[in-house]
Amino acid sequence: MSLKVKYWGVRGSLPAAPMPEQLKDDFESLLHQFFRSGHKHSGDIRAFMASQSVPSVGGYGAATTCVEVNSEQTQIIIDGGSGIRTLSEEMMNGPAAKGQAVIHIFLTHFHWDHLLGLPFFAPHFVKGNQIHYYAVQPELESLVKVKFSKPFFPVPFKDLPSTVTFHTLEPRMPVTVGDLTLTPYQLDHPDPCWGYRITDGKKVYSHCVDTEGTRVSRESMGLDLPLYQNVDLMFFDAQYTLPELAEKANWGHSASQIGLDIAFRESVKHVVFAHHDPGADKTAVFELQSQTREYYDWRMKRAAANNQILPTVEWQFAFEGLVVDLDKI
Ligand SMILES: [Zn+2]
Ligand SMILES: [Zn+2]
Repeated sequence: MSLKVKYWGVRGSLPAAPMPEQLKDDFESLLHQFFRSGHKHSGDIRAFMASQSVPSVGGYGAATTCVEVNSEQTQIIIDGGSGIRTLSEEMMNGPAAKGQAVIHIFLTHFHWDHLLGLPFFAPHFVKGNQIHYYAVQPELESLVKVKFSKPFFPVPFKDLPSTVTFHTLEPRMPVTVGDLTLTPYQLDHPDPCWGYRITDGKKVYSHCVDTEGTRVSRESMGLDLPLYQNVDLMFFDAQYTLPELAEKANWGHSASQIGLDIAFRESVKHVVFAHHDPGADKTAVFELQSQTREYYDWRMKRAAANNQILPTVEWQFAFEGLVVDLDKI
């Protein structure tokens, strides 16, 4: 038994890839690094590349939010950002290509970056597939249908050959899909946005994107506090630096330091930060990482100076294609 989360899209607001010229420059500096590190032969390339992290070479990805949660028996998709297109390609190698798939898509909210891939999710166009959409917002059905309507998209919703069903969720009430239980909790976002606490009964994944994290104390989190408690893996919005967060109050996005504060207090084991700004190239995300490391170390030192012990929190910045196995946390 295992619970795994795969990140197909981790960018926020708008898909954004580096300019080709930037990629060429990056490749040139990688070649310099190869030769500077003493390598001379093509036979050394594999070992050199293995010593590089995926984002240090490939960056963090262009696609907007789409997350796949898999248990032993059940697949859940959260949000239909442009990342759902690559997930769709993978799924079309399986039962979805034959119209034999039952698919569950949970939506957090309806900002474009979380919906824009839906018309490109190929299982919609195969007769026999059953696609279930879930959200707390009662406008779920009408807002998904808009994505499949002229003049925005050539195939109107009524012409989709698959069977699409809409389910409105009750706030903070659990629903069961296969062997997974999902409970929606409200995040801090200008248009209502609902995160999900997902468990297979053993491990817990907490999906907290998009959020500004304006409610940080337990008291202010109120009924939404369970979203952050007894969590193995928390996915958290870290679009901004702390100064940017102050400048962009009410924009609905947060900073890694806010996520770490919550994680320390609630003993979250592992945090994955995402919703990277469309303007943030990999150097900008590296800078966010180093600020996060500084803050983490400062919190640890301050705790030690006060004779307190903080729980260890593992954290990383998400890149497209990242898989986290909750059994290994
Ligand atoms: Zn977003
Ligand atoms: Zn949003």
